[in-house]
Parts: sequence; structure tokens; C-alpha cells
Amino acid sequence: MTAAAPDRTAAADCRAGSPVRPIRERGQHEVFCGLTSILWLHRKMQDAFFLVVGSRTCAHLMQSAAGVMIFAEPRFATAIMEERDLAGMADMHDELDAVVARLVARRPGIRLLVLVGSCPSEVIKLDLAKAAHRLDRAYGPALRVLHYSGSGIETTFTQGEDNFLAALVHDLPAAPIGEAPSLLVAGALADVVEDQFRRIFEALGIGRVAFLPPRSAAERAAVGPHTRFLLAQPYLGETAKALESRGARHLPAPFPLGEEGTTAWLRAAAEAFGVDPGRFEAIVAPGRARARAAVAKRRETLGDKRIFFFPDSQAEPAMARFLHRELGAEIVEIGTPFLHRRHLEAEFALLPDTVTVSEGQDVDRQLDRCRAAKPDLVVCGLGLANPLEREGFATKWSIELAFTPIQGFDQAGDLAELFARPFERRARLKLEA
Ligand code: SF4
Repeated sequence: MTAAAPDRTAAADCRAGSPVRPIRERGQHEVFCGLTSILWLHRKMQDAFFLVVGSRTCAHLMQSAAGVMIFAEPRFATAIMEERDLAGMADMHDELDAVVARLVARRPGIRLLVLVGSCPSEVIKLDLAKAAHRLDRAYGPALRVLHYSGSGIETTFTQGEDNFLAALVHDLPAAPIGEAPSLLVAGALADVVEDQFRRIFEALGIGRVAFLPPRSAAERAAVGPHTRFLLAQPYLGETAKALESRGARHLPAPFPLGEEGTTAWLRAAAEAFGVDPGRFEAIVAPGRARARAAVAKRRETLGDKRIFFFPDSQAEPAMARFLHRELGAEIVEIGTPFLHRRHLEAEFALLPDTVTVSEGQDVDRQLDRCRAAKPDLVVCGLGLANPLEREGFATKWSIELAFTPIQGFDQAGDLAELFARPFERRARLKLEA
């Protein structure tokens, strides 16, 4: 399914003084809807359960995107709305309560139940906030109930995560007055990456660190004016807004992709917490060296390549910066569904002024520009990849980047490899032909 998401970032962004003047595209977004983010979020929070309130279409999307889970009972499901629900012949709230009662009886280990809105629930204006509030009162405090929208009318796939994290922020306790400063890292990261960052923060002497989403529902970091937060993902506009409304302060930085991005991201925290610069350099030096060495192996493949990004995940500017700065690739166009100028200012400061940036989607016009530019690699969604391959373009599926651990020093080589793989595959096919 595709998402037709409205432009919700413009108002927040116009404050920022970024010189970026993007081409603004106003067509429908040709990307997966916000439900798709459940596929990585459910792995992150082991005691959470995501209940999509949607149609058979939503259930099919979730099932085909996730594959069949044989070895474990999945931590997500769809409460399917039938025709009589949509026609208003049944009380949806009663039906939802019955589904939740069955689920909770069968799965007593669930500590956080997340009701996820979809296009159908939105069209019939089912009030999921009210349902979540009622269920939370009925099952709390052992089981908390939150809600957010993953509907394709409102969200692209990464905005699903953004809405979920914003819902979590509203549910966090307030930090007591006078509490020592703490660091919150917002954005789902693979556990292995989270552990690496935790070790680095510990070595830097930044002791009070929490991650959002946490691994379990019980880990609820207190938030308040002494909270400083780093964004680990570039698509968290609503989450940042929710944190700022609680008094927390954003630490602006490039995103932790590649050696340069990771160093700058960690440095933003080190400076905010008064870490001695010499100590910082000494602690990050081994990781930087490992990242540089791993990335260097792909420079021969990617160094002379021209790369075109279609809008998909909102991570495009950070990826482009990594490919340009650390691998020497030329960036033809950076398409992104939404451009949060303030959060991306540090990225664009590292990119050449001449790079074309487009915000939003008009797939025909973007395809025309892409064909005219004849890039060596096109980074795009699944729907465009096959037709473009048939036309002779090498492509990379951008959604793969959302599922793969790519942040931090020790993943910089893997990130470079993901972009090098289409060229290596083509070279192998030529050899074998
Ligand atoms: S939420 Fe909307 S776009 Fe997503 S699967 Fe359901 S119907 Fe399709």
C-alpha cells in the first residue's frame, strides 16, 4: 500500500535558517505506510504488542512484509474490521474490547499494548485515544495501553516509528526538579548498536543515558528540563517536538552514519556533558580507525559513482553525506519525503551547495530527472526498483537500510557495503555471462 501523507513538517521547519532550497513536489507519496515500522519496532520492545485496528488489506501487508513466523508467536496482529463495523452496524469499541480481552488472556506477558490506527479506522473516525484510555484504566498498571496512527493517509513508513516514539514520550514520567542532567537517545537502534553506544557514553563518563524506545515497557526514563536528547534517526520530528514540549533540549548533530557522522554525533553529547576534548578524542580514536579502514575497502567501487536518491525514508540526506564525504561518490539528487531543516542542518552543512534536493514526491517528474541524469545507482522504494533495473539502472532498496544495523563506527563498513553490493552483483553477473 502507498501512503498519501500531508506535509506536516513545514511549520516546524521554517524557523531554521538552512540555505537549502529544495524542489517541492506535491504528488502522492509512493512509499509504504506507517504500519510497516511495526516490523522493526516489535523486535525492539520484547514485552510490547502492536494491535493494528484495520482491514484485511492491512493484515495482508503486515503478513507479507513480515513473512511467516514459524518459531515465535509474533508480537503484532490485526484486529480486522469487517463490513458491519465499517457500516456502523456494530459497536467497534465493544468489539475491540473483546479482541483485547482474548489477547491479554492468551498472552499474559504483554506489558505494553499499542493500538495502531490505519486508513479504515481513520475513515470511520474510530477514536483510538478513547479506546486506549479506557483499556489502560481497565488493565493498568500491569499492562499499559497507548495508541498512535500508522495510517497511509497520514504516515510514511518511518513516520510510523516517529508517531510511536512520540506516544511513548507523552507517557514518560516527569523528572524531579533539580535532577542531574541526563541523556536520552531517541530512535530505534539494533541492540548491538545500542550496546556499543552505551559503552562509549560510559567511557566518556556520561552515566545517565536512556534509549527510546527502551527494550522493555518498564524502562521509562524520566524527562524534563535537564534532559538532553540526541536523535539517532533523521525522521523524528514529532518525537522531538514531544520531548521539547516536556522541556528536554535537542543536541544538534549529523546522524551517526559513518566515521564522520558518528564522531560528530558523539561529540555533541560530549560537549553538552562537559567531557574533556582530549579524553573524547582518545576514547573515539579506535572506533574511528576501525570505521575508516572498513569504509576504505569500498572506496574503489563507489568512489567514482553518481547516485540519485528517490524520496522514501527521510534518511536520504544523511546517507548522501556519508557516500559523498567518506566514499567520494557524486550525489545527483537527494529526494526526501519531508525535509526537517533544523534536524538536517548539520547534514547539509557537509554537502556541496550544488546538490539538487527535492522534498515530497512527483514520481513522473523525478523519473524524468533520473533518466536524464543517468546515475550509476538509484536508491529507491521497492515499487520503482524493478522497473528501473529493467531500464538498466543499478538500484538499492531504501527500506533495506531501515532494517539493517548501520549506525555507529562498527557498522560503517556494512553501510558502505550495502551501497557497493549492487555493483559487485552486476560485476559477478557479467563475469558469469
Ligand atoms: S493502513 Fe492504509 S495504506 Fe496501510 S495497509 Fe492499511 S489500508 Fe493500506
